[in-house]
Amino acid sequence: MEDLNQLKAAVRGKRIHLFGPPGCGKGNRSKDLQALGLVHVASGGALRAKVRDDPDSELSKTAQEIMKRGELVPDEIVVPVVMEHLNKPECKENGFILDGFPRTKAQADLLFSQVDLDLVLLLDVPRSFLIFGVVGANRRACVSCASGYSDFDPPKVEGVCDRCGGTIVQRADDTAETISKRLDGYDAETRAFLPDLEARGIVEVLPITVADDDDVGESRLKTLLGEVYRVDIGDGGTARMLNLDGMRERLYGFLAKKFM
Ligand SMILES: [Zn+2]
Repeated sequence: MEDLNQLKAAVRGKRIHLFGPPGCGKGNRSKDLQALGLVHVASGGALRAKVRDDPDSELSKTAQEIMKRGELVPDEIVVPVVMEHLNKPECKENGFILDGFPRTKAQADLLFSQVDLDLVLLLDVPRSFLIFGVVGANRRACVSCASGYSDFDPPKVEGVCDRCGGTIVQRADDTAETISKRLDGYDAETRAFLPDLEARGIVEVLPITVADDDDVGESRLKTLLGEVYRVDIGDGGTARMLNLDGMRERLYGFLAKKFM
């Protein structure tokens, strides 16, 4: 895999922010980017690492108390903890993927005044699919390794994780109502600071749909119950969508073009 090694070398040290609504595939794209050697960074993981590795610091003590009460950790704590994490040698040398953070404009203003990014990758997925993909296609995940499945990407044996053999369950809060609410929250809070990043010229769109004249093999397309799936893209139009292998190829192709 000479090409893959060249790509790994080209993206080493890059700072990438994955941007997109709930259900857009950030988790799977993160795994694809981790496979290239980038370090995955999310706010929950950064907080847990801080509390574990530096338990006596003021930040850790305060964060732990708040988390014990089951409350949301405020920006004044989350942002510095994530920033510290991004400044670790592991992230500096290998590069990182910021996944699902920052979530609000206040967090983004704080973080991006102190952290430079090479790329904001906007995962563009039609809204009609975001709800259907979670609810209609029964999104489910492994309780042990968090690998995601759905009727589009079912495990080889139902209920058993392909990767680790763990149990696969559906989230109780994956209903049409909660997903709609989370999407509205994304539009109001998160998508609201996208223009700030666009103004820096670092936002690139990675679409999931495939144009009809694009000759993509069926092995790269989302299928449902054996048929190539077509998503509603508004104005009565529909489009085909890439599956996990197809998106990995598109992502790697995009990164090769940009960084090699
Ligand atoms: Zn698993």
